[in-house]
This record gives sequence, structure tokens and C-alpha cells, in this order.
Amino acid sequence: TMTTEKPPLKVLLCAPRGFCAGVVRAIDVVEKALNLYGAPVYVRHEIVHNKYVVESLKRKGAIFVEELDEVPDETQAPVIFSAHGVAKTIPAEAERRNFQILDATCPLVTKVHREAEIHYKRGKEIILIGHAGHPEVVGTIGQLPDGAVKLVQTVEDVEAFVPDDPDKLAFVTQTTLSVEETSGIIDALKRRFPNITVPHKEDICYATTNRQEAVKQIAHECDAFITVGSPNSSNSQRLREVAEQRGCPVSRLVDGAHQIDWAEFEGIRTLGVSAGASAPEVLVEQIIDAFAERFTVEVETVAAIEENMFFPLPRPLRGAAA
Ligand code: SF4
Repeated sequence: TMTTEKPPLKVLLCAPRGFCAGVVRAIDVVEKALNLYGAPVYVRHEIVHNKYVVESLKRKGAIFVEELDEVPDETQAPVIFSAHGVAKTIPAEAERRNFQILDATCPLVTKVHREAEIHYKRGKEIILIGHAGHPEVVGTIGQLPDGAVKLVQTVEDVEAFVPDDPDKLAFVTQTTLSVEETSGIIDALKRRFPNITVPHKEDICYATTNRQEAVKQIAHECDAFITVGSPNSSNSQRLREVAEQRGCPVSRLVDGAHQIDWAEFEGIRTLGVSAGASAPEVLVEQIIDAFAERFTVEVETVAAIEENMFFPLPRPLRGAAA
């Protein structure tokens, strides 16, 4: 039999990609809790927005619920809050029901919560830039009484916004937005409300910024781009968009190699690959392997920024065995 030669494919692998410090910590909270207290442990909402991660933790004994009313009253098991953060009413309810709380909220989300609180105490009306319905947005709005935080999603929202007092405004943002789109919205806010209080340092987190920066470096060279991540992962969606906006003709978000529509990748010479902050590296490897079955692959890592962020575990889990 004749072997047909596989066409060459250059894979440009973005660095940094994949897990951020907040995701590592959140997954670690669930795993350490399972080791320390035994199964089951309850997790309110997907610990991080990744199907593979959630499925593997389910197999180890984590029970995922959307709301605390799904947790049985008599349980001794800890209740873990996801990396996205929760409204103030959630820990209040958990305490009322005597649950042991383990809070896996990313410290960079908590930082935004504290900023919003400070603005509120200073009598400011708070604008949150973010995506309606995302759990982080629900959690940030829920730090303060109803109506204290107003959501804007677009420049049009800014144009239509009617403040109580234009001189008593402040804004915060979701951590996983597009750097470029957000700066457009912020410019519009500053133009309309020159006295608006701005964050000391951007609320968009280092991981979001760095992953987008790496995609920007290579997207224009790629015939196609794959972002590994789940559809409900905000930062992963943004990576897919950034590659597209930077001129890459085919930019897809996939949970794994099984979701690749191979017809779309026929004839490509250069493929860009990145992964959202909640997507495990094993899935990136699977995707490169799947391309290697069809192409003669040469992988080159393109590095933007080096990361060395680390967040310690919540107190009850520190020093717990791995
Ligand atoms: Fe924290 Fe950013 Fe990771 Fe979200 S993406 S968990 S804010 S480090």
C-alpha cells in the first residue's frame, strides 16, 4: 500500500495559555477538601468554567449545584464557592444553615468586590463593565444593596446611561473582558463623565491580559486558530474573538479535539493554539496530537509575557496534604 504524505503544518503555541493562578487555587480547594473531609463535597456552580475539569472532579466525589437549596440541610460536607465569586446573600445563607464554607473566589475577583464596596461607602454610584448573567457579574453586583451597581456592556450603554450625579460616579469591571473593547467603553465613560473615579489598576486580570497579548502577537500569521475552552468561559471566548479580530480567518473555541470540524482546517499551513484560563494543558496536547494525525506538525511556542503568580489556599486548607 502507498502512504500518502501528510501536508506540513506549523503550530504556533501561545504562551502564556491555560490555567491561571486563580483556577489552580480553585481546583486545589476542591481536591484538598475531598482529601481532608472525604466525598462528597458540595460546589456551588462550576468551580471553573471547564467541562473536563468539572467532570473529573465529579468522578472524585464533588457534587455540583447551582443554588444552596440543592444542598441537604443535615450535611456535614463542606460547601465550596466557585472562582467567580458570589453575592453577599450566599455566604449569609450558608452560615444560617450551618454549612462549612470554603471560598474559592479568585483573590482578583475579591479585590474588585472590595473596590466596589469602598466606592459605595464614599457615596459613589457604581458602574460595572461586564456581561449580563455571568456569575462573576452577578456576584459583584450582589456585594451591595440592589440598585447600587449598574451594569454597562457596550459603548451604546454608556451613551444611554443617566447617572444620579455625574460627579459621583465610579466604575469597576469584570476580570475576564477583552482589553481592547473595555478600553473603548472606558474612553466613552471618561468622555461623558470626566470626573468618574477609575480603578487604581485595571480590574481585567493579569491572566486575561497576558493570554490576549500572546494571541495578538501571532493571530495575523495564522490561517486558523484554536482556543481550547468551554463555551461558558468568558476569558476563552475573548481569546477566540481576539484571534478573529486580528485577522485570523478561522477562529474556533473547542472543548476538545472531538469538536474540531476538520473540513474547516483543510489546506492550512499555520495554526495558532491557545487555551483559556480554565482549560487544562492535557486538552491542548490532545488537540496537537489530533492535528499530528493529519499533518506533519512542527510546534513553535511563541511567548509574550512570563507569569509567576501564585495565590495561597483558603486558611482551613493550608498545609493540608496534597
Ligand atoms: Fe482569577 Fe483572572 Fe484566573 Fe479569573 S482569570 S480566576 S480573575 S486570575
